[in-house]
This record gives sequence, C-alpha cells and structure tokens, in this order.
Amino acid sequence: MREFDIIAMIRERCAVAREDVRLGIGDDAALLAVPSGQLLAVSTDTLVAGVHFPHSAKAYDIGWKALAVNLSDLAAMGATPAWAILALTLPDADPHWVSEFADGLAALAREFKLAVVGGDTTQGPLGITITVHGFVPEGAALLRDGAHVGDAIFVTGTLGDAAAGLRCLDKNDAGSDRLLSAPIGTREALIARLNRPTPRVAQGLVLRGRASACIDVSDGLLADLGHVCKASGVGADVDVDCLPASSALATLFDEDARRAFQLAGGDDYELCFSLAEAEAPSLLGDLARSGCGASRIGRIVTEPGVRVRDSSGNAVAIARPGWEHFA
Ligand code: ADP
Ligand code: MG
Repeated sequence: MREFDIIAMIRERCAVAREDVRLGIGDDAALLAVPSGQLLAVSTDTLVAGVHFPHSAKAYDIGWKALAVNLSDLAAMGATPAWAILALTLPDADPHWVSEFADGLAALAREFKLAVVGGDTTQGPLGITITVHGFVPEGAALLRDGAHVGDAIFVTGTLGDAAAGLRCLDKNDAGSDRLLSAPIGTREALIARLNRPTPRVAQGLVLRGRASACIDVSDGLLADLGHVCKASGVGADVDVDCLPASSALATLFDEDARRAFQLAGGDDYELCFSLAEAEAPSLLGDLARSGCGASRIGRIVTEPGVRVRDSSGNAVAIARPGWEHFA
C-alpha cells in the first residue's frame, strides 16, 4: 500500500456528502463555506500510541477515539460538527490496519454528518492528529468563563468508567479478587468506555445558550472543573456522593477506588456545566430526552479552588487531581 492508496481508502470510507464542502480531499487545500451568522469553532487533538491508547489497541477503536475526543471539544462549545482534517503518521502501510482505522473513524463521522476534507500522511511512530471544525451561532458558544456564584454544577452520563477500564487492562491488577469474580460483561463495559467514548454533541446543543459555563471532562473532573473555576473567577464545592457511577463501576470497585476514578480518572468525555438553579428542571428534562441525562454534583461558590466533601460534610482528600503531560 502506497501513500496515495491510504488517502484513497480514507476518502472512500469517510465520504459524507455536504453542500458546504465545495472542494474536499484531492487538491492542495479544501474549500469550505461557513454559513452566514455562524462562527467557526476549531479544535485539534493528538493521539500518541502508548500515551492516549495502549499499543495493543484495535485500529477501529483508535479511529473512533481520535475523532471522538475531537468531537467532545466541539460538544463542550455547543458547536455543530461539520468538517475534519486528519494528519496520520503510520509506522507502516498495513492495508488491514488502515481499513479498520478508517471504518472506526467513519462510523462516528457518519453519525454526526462530519466530512473528512483533507489531511496529511507520513511515516513514523503511530500518531493521529485530527482538527475538527463546527458551527456555532455568533454569541451562543458555551465558554468556560461564565460560571456564577450560586449556580449548580452538573455532569452528563457517568464518571470514572474509562479510568476503571484502564485499570481492568492493567496486567498487575487483572488477578485481583473483585475483577476475577466480575459479572460477565462488566469489565468489557468499562473497557468499551475507554476505547470508544461517546462525544456528547447532542447534549452540548441542548446546553447552548442555557448553561453559564461548560467544559468536557478529559483530564479528570477536578482538573477540568478547576479550569472553569479559574476562568470564571469562582470556586466549587463538590459532593462526592452525588457523582454519577455506572453499575459496572459500582460493582467492580470499592468506594475509595471508585471516587478516585470519578474525581481524577480522565478520558470520561462527559460535559461538566454550571447553570442557574431555576433553569435546572426544564434543562435536565431536555437533556434526558436527548439521550443522556445529567446529575447535580455541587455548587459554584466565591472561595477559589475546588473542594470535595461527602454527603455527611467530611472533606475528601485527593491524591492526584488529574492528568497532565510533563507533570
Ligand atoms: P500536498 O503534497 O499538496 O500537501 P498531499 O499529497 O499530502 O498533498 O495530499 C493530497 C490530498 O490528500 C490533499 O487534498 C490532502 O488534504 C489529502 N490527504 C492527505 N492525507 C490525508 C489523510 N490522512 N486523510 C485525509 N486526507 C488526506
Ligand atoms: Mg501533504
């Protein structure tokens, strides 16, 4: 397989027809039309083998996750996905690998009617960089800096599953009693959340123009909520007993491990947002109807920083607040 065969395969698998793509893959640059009245939301994320996914990860899952983490950033802005640019560095041109990778990426691209409009293909250690583009009406984007004292804090879906899934893959831990006696499907459910995260695009659109601030939880709840607080000049009190847990997480891990995954695990790709209390009931109903509900986990306060307590009011100490490169 040569460079141009790889490009042709990606082009064929990821074909999504869009009227705003005046020129897609094949020339020196794509030509794209942004609808009037809309701003272009642009974001990029790189996945490196051994850092963002295990070396053993399946090509399909890598393609899926590379696009999912990018779509999650658009979701957190309240943007509608439109286009992507794919920069692919491959150690070798294995047609089976490229085919599976393209299928994983295309599955999500089709779901969100996103067109891959260009990219670059090089040889080297496995790495994938995607740049996504979406639309958001002027003035309506969800930002990090709008949280107000007194707002309630919510998170979509459940937290901690992906980090727990990573633990399940850890050979040193795979023999622990709890994991060995796990009900059928529970480990797989957690590992699936790690390998095939669900970007909360529809939920971001529900939140647009309504949430006071929003972020996607990629580095761990405490770290990401901390970013919102810093940008907004406020603090947050979080009730650890309100953090949503999947039944798989609750079944497989004790309270301490579960809390650590939920607070600092990373790779959740849920949306954390703040909202005036009075708006909560109708918004939560709309979110549930969109296919993914949200849980109230705390409150925005004046004092800077993020504090975690249990429902009896005892402070909960956190060893490591979140993921950070170069830390
Ligand atoms: P150039 O040499 O002009 O930079 P390339 O030969 O790298 O062009 O790419 C040819 C066309 O294929 C371009 O339209 C480019 O955007 C597209 N392309 C290259 N690699 C990829 C890829 N991995 N995914 C999608 N499109 C790609
Ligand atoms: Mg090029």
